[in-house]
Amino acid sequence: MTSPRDYFEQLAWRRYKGVLGVHRIDALEGGPVLGIGIATHGNEIEGLAAFASLPKLVRGSVVLVLCNLEAVTRHFCAEESVRYIDTNMNRLPSSLNSSASEVVRARELLPVLESFDYGMDIHSTPGPSEPMSLNVRGEGLSLVPTIPIQIDGMLEHQAGVPLSSLFGGKSVVGVEAGQQGTEQAWEDAQRIFETTLAVLGMADEEPPPSVEKSHYQILQPIYFPNPTYRFFPRLLTGTFSSLREGTYPKVKKGAPIAYGEGTTLRAPDDGVLLFPRRKVSDLTDEAAFLARFNS
Ligand SMILES: [Zn+2]
Repeated sequence: MTSPRDYFEQLAWRRYKGVLGVHRIDALEGGPVLGIGIATHGNEIEGLAAFASLPKLVRGSVVLVLCNLEAVTRHFCAEESVRYIDTNMNRLPSSLNSSASEVVRARELLPVLESFDYGMDIHSTPGPSEPMSLNVRGEGLSLVPTIPIQIDGMLEHQAGVPLSSLFGGKSVVGVEAGQQGTEQAWEDAQRIFETTLAVLGMADEEPPPSVEKSHYQILQPIYFPNPTYRFFPRLLTGTFSSLREGTYPKVKKGAPIAYGEGTTLRAPDDGVLLFPRRKVSDLTDEAAFLARFNS
């Protein structure tokens, strides 16, 4: 079997528009250009699974992009688990005006990213999880109709600029494929990519039937005032299956949610607290996101 590292080695030396680590494949028949972001965080390599499905492409073009080339190279070659070198590629400064490794790479990638008609940025998580889709632009969620957990509005409420917001095209989606380095996440990433090919008419296959969704609309980020703050333990009990089933722990407006050296933090609105962190050392990072659940 071809391993993720084999796919990485095939991709790392390709060029498209003069940019290293980018590969464009054209079917004989014309059609949309689907861009796939891989390893925007260096140790999240599941997007390489799209490689395995390329023979299914019969219409249009696929552009595979090793987004954080430096970090993913270290991941495979130095066997360090490197998320980024200088800065999180999902929290770029809006000016793109710095010499940080990720900012330089983002500038270099711009002409490639702008060539997309549709985009998908494939991530994975450190802990056990299930696939989730995050809308980046337009009808991004409709590109991945088999993912049951949908999140909307993250972009408007997160700090900094995620690389995927620089992708061109009318619909762009972020995908969390599952837990990093697991066979399950690799298979899920591959199946999700194949579904998108089918949805866009780029493969000779009918898209699979869509599944029942749990949809979350992000209302606002929650920040901690200082590093001593912690969420109340009840709010840390949410699991991915509870997210999928809509049984994630809920909070009421005004209810205490976190404590620390200072006043108790209270929920600014009714909702659920998505992705609560156990502790936050960098206070510019969101401690969680308050979201509304729409089944
Ligand atoms: Zn990521």
